[in-house]
Amino acid sequence: MKTSDWMKKAESLQEDAVALRREFHRYPEWALGEYRTASRIVEILRKYGFQVEYGPAVMDPSALVSLPSREQTEGWMKRALEEGADPETVKAMQGGLTGIVGILQGSGPGKTVAFRFDIDCNAIDEATADHRPAEEGFASCHARSMHACGHDGHVAIGLTLARLLAENKDRLCGRVKLIFQPAEEGVRGAAAMVAAGVADDVDFFFGGHIGINQTESHTLAASAGDFLAVRKYEGIFHGKSSHAGLAPQEGRNALLAAAHATLALHAIPRHADGATRINVGVFTAGGSINAVPDRARIAFEVRGQTSEIKDHLCGEAERILRASADLQGVSVEIHTLGEGESFDADPEFAEDVARTAESAGIYRRVDRYRPMRASEDCTLFLRRVAERGGKGSYLLFGTELKAVHHNPKFDFDESVLAESAALLAVLAERYTKE
Ligand SMILES: [Zn+2]
Repeated sequence: MKTSDWMKKAESLQEDAVALRREFHRYPEWALGEYRTASRIVEILRKYGFQVEYGPAVMDPSALVSLPSREQTEGWMKRALEEGADPETVKAMQGGLTGIVGILQGSGPGKTVAFRFDIDCNAIDEATADHRPAEEGFASCHARSMHACGHDGHVAIGLTLARLLAENKDRLCGRVKLIFQPAEEGVRGAAAMVAAGVADDVDFFFGGHIGINQTESHTLAASAGDFLAVRKYEGIFHGKSSHAGLAPQEGRNALLAAAHATLALHAIPRHADGATRINVGVFTAGGSINAVPDRARIAFEVRGQTSEIKDHLCGEAERILRASADLQGVSVEIHTLGEGESFDADPEFAEDVARTAESAGIYRRVDRYRPMRASEDCTLFLRRVAERGGKGSYLLFGTELKAVHHNPKFDFDESVLAESAALLAVLAERYTKE
């Protein structure tokens, strides 16, 4: 089969891809609560004959950070069941283990090629007017939940790819792994899947996103890089309350410790080796005018152009939190809420991916490289694969947008769904045979 044949086959699946995208758009789920989404993915992958793994087999619970509360989790599981999720699948995913890996064996020996798709939504109320999902009846039916980053499209592309590959299995050697990752928002789902070893046997790895820094439909960026490494934190200060008029000397002021920490964090020097970012985005403390505040919480993030710079910032940030606590005689708990690394593809591999994409004849234009200057936890997979001698690239699927990502009117050009799956099928065929 010629590479262009993948596109012909994919074209016949375009309508189904749109239907999938719209179904997932209607039922968006927050990070680590994607029970309905995940259950449907399992069901569809099984239908196509994939070997499907999920729950603790593909996510190490000890590497999960920033878990939702038990009440939240129970509510989400219940809602998923009411919306048609399979009870056994949902039960196996309890505790936010909503990741899935589908495996398809090719017809002979070859390499293992993996593709990763993120599946969670944003905590946003979707626009109700002047917005196609609302006008055409597939808007979110969940409050303060919306696929405003296009992950519904990613799921549709992944499942369309699954069907393309399953129906043309004889064209593949080796193995294809489709990784459906929860909790990309907040950069906290990949770590648990990487810790479970999901990427350890992968020779070639592809992640990607629709419409980020690539907003012309039917174009592709074959390699995105310059991801900012990030770590998100919370610091909880515990002091001692006392009457502010009768016995202020007996108090230990957690609010002041958090205030010292906030100012000192923003005063961490810039770094000579590359860009840095620091932001304390949340500060809550105190409760009563006449009491010494005994509790304060800050949530913040540090970002660096390289993982080394980020690690340096993390060391400084943790030192500042402890020193600020010490200054006020209070204690501090430091928790990581999420993490992503820096990444740039191997240039030779990126060039090979670009040429493969060009020769498939799918795109109007294939761009070589696009800097991201944003953060993504797909970088954890990409770095793990590289550490073990494999290669990877992060693709940008060009699509026109109605509004920017994370906006209540976000929407993209659905006509790119099938072609994106076709490109990934081309890459699967090419690299399983490498
Ligand atoms: Zn996204």
